Amino acid sequence: MSQNSAPRPILRFAPSPTGLLHVGNARTALYNALVARREDGTFILRYDDTDTARSTAEFAEAIAEDLAWLGLAPDRVEHQSKRLALYDASVERLKASGHLYPAYESEEELEAKRLSRRRRGLPPIYDRAALALTPAQRAAFEAGGRSPHWRFRLDGRRVEWVDLVRGPQHIETGALSDPVLIRADGSYLYTLTSVIDDIDMGVTHVVRGEDHVTNTAVQTEIFEALGARPPVFAHHNLLTLPSGEGLSKRLGHLSLRALREDGEEALAVAALAVLTGTSMAVEPVADLDTLAARIDFSKISRAPARFDPQELAALTGATLHLLPYAAVGERLAALGVAGGEDFWLAVRGNLARLADAAGWWRVVEGPVAPVVAAEDAAFLAQAAGLLPEIWDGEVYARWIASVKPASGRAGRALFHPLRFALTGQESGPELKALLPLIGREKARARLLGQAA
Ligand code: GLU
Repeated sequence: MSQNSAPRPILRFAPSPTGLLHVGNARTALYNALVARREDGTFILRYDDTDTARSTAEFAEAIAEDLAWLGLAPDRVEHQSKRLALYDASVERLKASGHLYPAYESEEELEAKRLSRRRRGLPPIYDRAALALTPAQRAAFEAGGRSPHWRFRLDGRRVEWVDLVRGPQHIETGALSDPVLIRADGSYLYTLTSVIDDIDMGVTHVVRGEDHVTNTAVQTEIFEALGARPPVFAHHNLLTLPSGEGLSKRLGHLSLRALREDGEEALAVAALAVLTGTSMAVEPVADLDTLAARIDFSKISRAPARFDPQELAALTGATLHLLPYAAVGERLAALGVAGGEDFWLAVRGNLARLADAAGWWRVVEGPVAPVVAAEDAAFLAQAAGLLPEIWDGEVYARWIASVKPASGRAGRALFHPLRFALTGQESGPELKALLPLIGREKARARLLGQAA
C-alpha cells in the first residue's frame, strides 16, 4: 500500500448518523483518514443514512464536528440519502440479471422457518422458498397487499481475500442467508448502497471493524455481480470498555463528545484509539502526521482491545507536555490566557488538562496571595532587595546566585519559601521560567508578603 508506484488510495469512513461517535468509531475514522493523508490519497466521509427512521441531521453534524475536533478534514463528503438515483440504476441491473429476487415472508414467518430448521438440526438460514414462486403466486401476494423485500442470490461459493490485518481469509457463502438488500418499504440496506458507492467513488481500501468480516464475503459477491473488482479490505479489532463490554453508539459509550468535555486532548484520544490493541507502544504524539507514520495494519492484534480512560488521562497530560505553542495558542486565548509562547513553554510540563493553564496564568498575572511563614519573612525581604534590575530570561539564575551567598541558605530552605511567596503554591512550573513572566514589581511585592 505504500509503494511509490501504487495509485493514490481512496478511503472512506461511513458512519450512520444514528448516534455520537465513540472511540471505536474514531479508530476506524483515523485509520482511513490517516492512511489517505500519509499516502496523498483521498479521504471520503460518507454518511450511511439510508435508514431515514434512525438517521438525523443533528447526528450528522455532530459527527463532522467530532472529526474536525480530532483534526480530520474529509476531502469529500457524501450523504447516501442523496444518491438514491444511482442505487436505483444498479438495482435495476441486479434485478435484470437475476441477482435480486423478491420474497414475501413476514418477519413472523421467517422466525417460524428459522425455528423449524433449528429443530431439524439445520442452520437457520433462509430456505430460498421465494425463488420457487410462480408469477401467479407473486401476483397473489401483491394482490393481497404484500410488497416484496428483495434478496441477493448468493453464489454459495468460497469467497477469498487477503485482509491487510487478518491475512488470507475465506468464507463459504453457502452457509449464509441470501441477504435482504431492499426492504419491503423500498428502502435500500447499507450492504448494497455501500458497494455501489465504493464502486462509484473508486474506493481502493475498505478499512473497518471486524464486525464486518462476514459482510465482506457478501459484498464481494455484490461487487462482482455489478461487474467490479472488490477493493482491498482491512478489518481491525474492536475496542471495548474496560469491562470488556462492546462499545455502543446507541448507549453513548465513550463518546468523543464526552471525552472532549472532560478535557481530554484530541491527539491523546487519537493516539490511544490508533495504538491500543496493536503491538506498538502507546506513546503521545505532537501531531497527526507522526501518528499516521506509525499506522501498520500488520501490527493490529486479532483480539478485541480494552480502551482505558485512565490511560487516556495520563496520555492527555503527556501530549500537552509535547505540544508546541502554535497547536494551543487559540485555545489558550479562549481560556482567557493572555500569555504567549514563553508562558506556554513554562507551564506545559505541569498540566494534566489544558484548562489547568488558566490557573498558572492567574499565578503569573496575579493577584496572588503570597504565603510567607514568619520565620522566612526576613529572608524573603532580603531576597526582594536582591532582585536584579535587568529583567530578562536569565534573571532567575542571576538572582539565586546572589541570594544564596547573602542568605547562607541552600536547597529546600532556599527554594521553598521563594516559591511559596512568588506563586502562593508549594509546587509548580520551574521558577526559572515563571519569574521572568511574573515581572519585577509583582515579584518584589509578593516577596514582601503583599498580594500582587
Ligand atoms: N455504516 C457502517 C458502520 O458504521 C459502515 C461499514 C463500512 O465501512 O462499510 O459500521
